[in-house]
Amino acid sequence: MAKAHKLDCESVSDTCRFIIQSENEEEAVELAQKHMEEVHGQEFSDEELHEDHLQVV
Ligand SMILES: [Zn+2]
Repeated sequence: MAKAHKLDCESVSDTCRFIIQSENEEEAVELAQKHMEEVHGQEFSDEELHEDHLQVV
């Protein structure tokens, strides 16, 4: 099974249940950045997402 990169927005926000899961790491980061900016008004760098929020499942 291929590994997937997953971001569970609950780790950032108590109220947001948004989940991103993609086998494509770049896509997962891109979608996560877009969601964080559009929905939460927060900007995260690639490194921040990798270190703090993205999980490999
Ligand atoms: Zn969210």
